[in-house]
Amino acid sequence: MEILFKILGIINLDIKTMIGILFWGNLALAFLILRYYLYHEAGNEKTLIKWFGIAKILQAIAWFLLFMRGDISDIFSVYFGNILLFVGFYLDSLVILKINTKTKRLWFQLQIVWLALSVIAFVFFEIWLGTGNIRIAIASLSVFCIFVTPNLLNITNKLSSRFQKFIGFTSLLFLLLLLMRALSSLFNEDVSLFTNNVLQSGTFILLFLLMFVNGMGFLLIMYERSYELVKMSSNLDPLTKIYNRRYFMNKAEAYYHRALGEQKSLSFLFIDIDFFKKVNDTYGHLFGDEVLKMVAKAISENIRPLDLCCRFGGEEFLILAHETNNDQAVIISNRIREVIQKMVFLENPEFKCTVSVGVYSGLPDSTQNIQHFIDNADQALYKAKESGRNRVVSF
Ligand code: GH3
Ligand code: MG
Ligand code: MG
Repeated sequence: MEILFKILGIINLDIKTMIGILFWGNLALAFLILRYYLYHEAGNEKTLIKWFGIAKILQAIAWFLLFMRGDISDIFSVYFGNILLFVGFYLDSLVILKINTKTKRLWFQLQIVWLALSVIAFVFFEIWLGTGNIRIAIASLSVFCIFVTPNLLNITNKLSSRFQKFIGFTSLLFLLLLLMRALSSLFNEDVSLFTNNVLQSGTFILLFLLMFVNGMGFLLIMYERSYELVKMSSNLDPLTKIYNRRYFMNKAEAYYHRALGEQKSLSFLFIDIDFFKKVNDTYGHLFGDEVLKMVAKAISENIRPLDLCCRFGGEEFLILAHETNNDQAVIISNRIREVIQKMVFLENPEFKCTVSVGVYSGLPDSTQNIQHFIDNADQALYKAKESGRNRVVSF
């Protein structure tokens, strides 16, 4: 029995203290986010951070007003406090929706409906009945309604990261508990804000956990996003936005081993722009860069989604086509060569770009490695240049 009381003690906390903790907690989060905001570079994410910070400040003020219940006019503590809390939660929910990739506008509009309904229901019941349990039921129900769709969308969105889903799921769990508590307080008449019982404390613990998961979750998701961005851009060539050589070589190694296990033919296609130095000399480096971008685009649009291409160096590109034999690789190469030859550059319409391609295909075997394939494709390219350019040579 004594142990049971001890365990209940973890839940049965002083409500006024809990409200104080919510105030300090939101304030601390607001400072943390302000710091993060100042240090973050400009962009969409910065706007999100700003609004999340504003939400935390509003929530901190709201909890302060609720804390002052009895010491200041009810207009401020009850009405202003609760409405401010709803607005703060509403902003939070918009941030969650924004973080979610490709959210439809309808969902944003739904949030304003929840906010309006929450405020109207709260004010209406407050004036009509003014009883503590209804007030708590409405407030809990409002928090549930405001947060439920953004978190559900987060979980069901295929584009959400695993981490994002985890936070969405945890938040939903707390929300469901909060909903249960909203319903039970309807049948529990003598409850007011500072009433101390297990149900009341349970709710405030849930609100605390929601604040914690929501705040930490936001910062971690932001961090995860910048990490993904950096990781992604470190794999890409900055000019052409196709993969760089380092990424290609790592991936190609894995492809090679898979093809080795499955004994499937692989092809490497080495593409080099003809007389590119002359392009720079005649039209300038900026135009040269434009040509590189267009060629990279043409290459990536004319290979299969699972094949790999990269900018290997200056004006050289390398393609790995798997499950592709020599005949097929030559067909692909000629298609790319023809597409590039037909390209029209608006700045210099008289300019025609041509490329030479060296192809090497074969079954991977364990005594060789990808370097063997690349060297041979390079040799074939050399032959293509030697025999007049604008052609495909295969070994
Ligand atoms: P070939 O037909 O034998 O391939 O002749 P080429 O002139 O294309 O070959 P070369 O290797 O002599 O010249 C490659 C040129 O590519 C030299 C270099 O200035 C240019 N280049 C390399 N990287 C870039 C780049 O990022 N931008 C621009 N504009 N030019 C580049
Ligand atoms: Mg070259
Ligand atoms: Mg060249």
